[in-house]
Amino acid sequence: MTDLTKLVRTIPDYPKPGIMFRDITTLILDPHGFTKVVNDLAEFAAGMRLTKIAGIEARGFIIGGALAHRLALGFVPLRKKGKLPHQTIVETYELEYGTDQIEMHLDAVDANDHVLLVDDLIATGGTAMAGVRLLRRGGAEVAACAFVIDLPDLGGAARLEAQGLKVHALMAFGGH
Ligand code: AMP
Repeated sequence: MTDLTKLVRTIPDYPKPGIMFRDITTLILDPHGFTKVVNDLAEFAAGMRLTKIAGIEARGFIIGGALAHRLALGFVPLRKKGKLPHQTIVETYELEYGTDQIEMHLDAVDANDHVLLVDDLIATGGTAMAGVRLLRRGGAEVAACAFVIDLPDLGGAARLEAQGLKVHALMAFGGH
């Protein structure tokens, strides 16, 4: 049985002192690990009657893209601002210092969509909430939000749940 937590590499003090960076590149480099991530998320998604998977740039593209393929669903990229060529909608979210923005093509979803939002990790939940707002503004229903890693001490999953969202993570690490 593949222990996914052992395949995540932790880099202390990256990108700045006090942060424990949870690096999934070692997890997706491992074929059993990557397969198990996709299988476990597919199991979570079973029976949800999803129409699309949305992933947040950039690591959410790797996990969400593989999951969409596995479930034979279309994939919606939620991109950093300025990367999408057609008409977009944009959401701003807070970072520790300053703000950032993500965008979605306006025609990527509609009121018939029931979407699973995917990213590699949830910390404060600011990024995922911005993704949820984009999908809802596009008219879609957000069925759930799924992550490989949860950092519960940062409260993001609880914040999403307080908004009535279903949240799932394959593993959790304490601290920042
Ligand atoms: P947040 O908006 O605070 O939930 O941050 C989530 C986003 O930041 C995700 O896209 C993660 O990839 C990244 N992130 C935040 N904290 C970490 C961490 N400790 N290790 C790796 N990635 C992180």
